[in-house]
Amino acid sequence: MARGEEAMIERIRRSYSAGGAAGENLPAGARLITGIGDDAAVLRPAAGRELVLTCDQFLEGAHFLGNVHPPDAVGYKALARAASDLAAMGARPQVFLLSLALPREKTGRWLDSMARGMARAARELGIALAGGDTSECRRVSMSLTLLGDVRRGTGVLRSGARPGELIFVSGTLGAAQLGLEILRRGLARERRWRPLLRAHLYPRVRLDLGEWLAASRLASAMMDISDGLSTDLARLCAASGVGARIYAAKLPAARVPAELARRGLDPLELALDGGEDYELLFTVPRRLAQRLLAPRVRHALRRVGRVPLTCIGDVTRQRRMVLVDARGRSRALLPRGWDPFRIGHPRI
Ligand SMILES: [Mg+2]
Repeated sequence: MARGEEAMIERIRRSYSAGGAAGENLPAGARLITGIGDDAAVLRPAAGRELVLTCDQFLEGAHFLGNVHPPDAVGYKALARAASDLAAMGARPQVFLLSLALPREKTGRWLDSMARGMARAARELGIALAGGDTSECRRVSMSLTLLGDVRRGTGVLRSGARPGELIFVSGTLGAAQLGLEILRRGLARERRWRPLLRAHLYPRVRLDLGEWLAASRLASAMMDISDGLSTDLARLCAASGVGARIYAAKLPAARVPAELARRGLDPLELALDGGEDYELLFTVPRRLAQRLLAPRVRHALRRVGRVPLTCIGDVTRQRRMVLVDARGRSRALLPRGWDPFRIGHPRI
């Protein structure tokens, strides 16, 4: 191993030991027997659980800008967005592997700050770094593999939605895209807009809610909203072989200050097509939906973080998506969220 590579690994390892995120968050019965430093990590899974795996890339130029996004936010978000895919299954994260390629000039302070942001996310999410690989590259390239677990047979898939069920989302929609637009338009220089960057830079992951929805078996289908509601709902509908009717007036759209709305930032458009909110999108059979509003459930929901849940529409037999506006008029809802391969899609 090159000396530079050893130094990089040492820097990453230091961020973790400083913050105390070293595997103590594993669920009862699971154990990280060998972590960073050997040829591979060894993990003993807990009895009665199933393993859930995901991987995610976070690339300079495609997902963030090296000279715009603060390095600690890059580290935080790289892990948070990957963990959101585990939340979407109802799984609890356990350990992750990090493949990291950096230009030489980012192997010092930039790396320290990025690793600190990632270690903070790791502590909040209860996930331990189990190992990784480092390399030199002209642009920052990160690839994270996460392993989580779920009680046997309770993982929630995208394919379980049935006609007549209700469609819910957690939290608000469009806040992350609003933050990105503020950065894109150079408005972040103005102090007053900076609090609006938070949802874009440090997304919250709905781990407790996802786990609770899976364990309580209330959700028949679930996924996280990473590329925008219109695009991700289309994926859920395709996987389930159903369609959807969404009511625009019911969408929990993030508030857009009037001055930004005048500059063309439309709350409805942001809520429908804005990416990276990492909220949960899930369907619930009608007879169970009442239970989401029952006092006992509201109490349980308070424990999972006071996340607002909003019913935004219902699942239809006809396999297309429809948007009903405030006056009751319907139009086709087309997937217009983030797609890295779509020609003409504004790059970050
Ligand atoms: Mg996802």
